[in-house]
Amino acid sequence: MGDVVLEARSILERFKLDGRTALVTGGGQGIGRAIAHALAEAGANVAIVDINLQTAETVAHELTEKGVEAMAIACDVTKSDDVNSMVKAIVDKWGKLTIGINNAGIGFWHDAETMKEEEWDRTMDVNLKGVFLCCQAEARAMLKAGYGKIINTASMSGTIVNMPQHQSAYNISKAGVIHMTKSLAAEWAERGVRVNCISPGYTRTQLVTDLLQTEVGQTVSPEWMSRTPINRMADVTELQGLVVYLSGETSDFMTGSDLIIDGGYTTW
Ligand code: NAD
Repeated sequence: MGDVVLEARSILERFKLDGRTALVTGGGQGIGRAIAHALAEAGANVAIVDINLQTAETVAHELTEKGVEAMAIACDVTKSDDVNSMVKAIVDKWGKLTIGINNAGIGFWHDAETMKEEEWDRTMDVNLKGVFLCCQAEARAMLKAGYGKIINTASMSGTIVNMPQHQSAYNISKAGVIHMTKSLAAEWAERGVRVNCISPGYTRTQLVTDLLQTEVGQTVSPEWMSRTPINRMADVTELQGLVVYLSGETSDFMTGSDLIIDGGYTTW
């Protein structure tokens, strides 16, 4: 008796995203930009969605130079009207939405006892409500089609508490993103929509560089390095493979998962 029949197409073939259409929020720089490039290189059409239209246009141009279809859309993810029209613009142009990467996020440091109410509200608005509004709008299009991949950018901060800096609102918002991912995955699993999240550790982007410069006056925090077994920050390109995996048929059996990619930070 033989073993089960294996899929005829090679694994590299099955990683391809040809014919898929994607959006990446916060795609104008940093992790979002790297994800947008990865999806485009794997064959998808990609919409770069950002509150900053100028950076979104620059990235969309970078992608068209690579020979894929791309567009830039200005959108503030905290506003449902913006989010709904953004998804509509993509479906109107490309006929469908198969991949939604909800990555826009903000972070800052503060002591909990002196945190301003506006800081709390803004963090929750962008990191939590913004991700929910995007999931909701994307799922409406995907559920109709019976298929779709939603990937939220959470953070290892949703599982551990970073030190030495104090960033409780950020940590709480990211824990919320992880549980939102599981909740929506359960609701939509039987209707073909998969929802997963990635949780990066310290990754060298503008968000991190700005915080370090302002707060510590350095470009690297020695304490972060000593707490990371691999002893360095991630490069944005080191997150790309994971997102391509989660975006295509390779991950059809995965939903509600939080994939931590942190150089070992959360292991000890
Ligand atoms: P970044 O600041 O470099 O980029 C964030 C992008 O989001 C920017 O282009 C910004 O214009 C956009 N944005 C901000 N608010 C928006 C809004 N309301 N609507 C639409 N777009 C908006 O940040 P990054 O480091 O690339 O982080 C991307 C995501 O990864 C965030 O969710 C962040 O919390 C998460 N993350 C980052 C790290 C890290 O170490 N860099 C680690 C874990 C998780």
